[in-house]
Amino acid sequence: MKVTSADIVISAVKPDQYPSEPIPEFALAGRSNVGKSSFINKMINRKNLARTSSKPGKTQTLNFYLINDALHFVDVPGYGYAKVSKSERAAWGKMIETYFTSREQLRAAILIVDLRHPPTKDDVSMYEFLKHYELPCIIIATKADKIPKGKWQKHLKVTRETLGLAKEDELMLFSSETGEGKEKIWGLLKKYM
Ligand code: GDP
Repeated sequence: MKVTSADIVISAVKPDQYPSEPIPEFALAGRSNVGKSSFINKMINRKNLARTSSKPGKTQTLNFYLINDALHFVDVPGYGYAKVSKSERAAWGKMIETYFTSREQLRAAILIVDLRHPPTKDDVSMYEFLKHYELPCIIIATKADKIPKGKWQKHLKVTRETLGLAKEDELMLFSSETGEGKEKIWGLLKKYM
């Protein structure tokens, strides 16, 4: 897809702050540092629109990006930081639960994992949470440039099996370094719009 415009429209913590346009929306989740911001930036051809590696302790917000005036990407704060306090974790959980259970525009969740390693316990919990709410899921296995091409299928198989990926869900390979997978992923997203 040709991205002609992309802007952050709002950082929201509660539903009355979500944008009201009835356009398709995709929520992006992933462990901190997995490469979620890099994924967003690469998909929309921007070097630095999505902030990379935001530290814990900062306000945790849902960041809405408007793309081509046609869809939203919603950047969900990363999980899996060891140092996050109980109350911060609870606030994060409540915010994303509210979002995932109430957002009508939401077409699919995009879960970013690291192709190099099996999904972590937190990744598996996140996937199970999304499935609990019966959301279609697209799993993006990123950092593919760090693995030789000949091993991609083997790593994808480990990803699929560790998550216990449902038949209806998609697993896509990606690299924000090389752009590998980008057009295929846009092609897939179009099917959900
Ligand atoms: P976030 O915390 O999930 O938003 O992660 P970032 O997008 O900030 O990425 C974390 C680190 O991984 C940064 O140093 C990125 O440059 C690096 N990174 C992200 N995606 C890729 C990728 O596809 N390939 C490689 N080689 N490095 C990546």
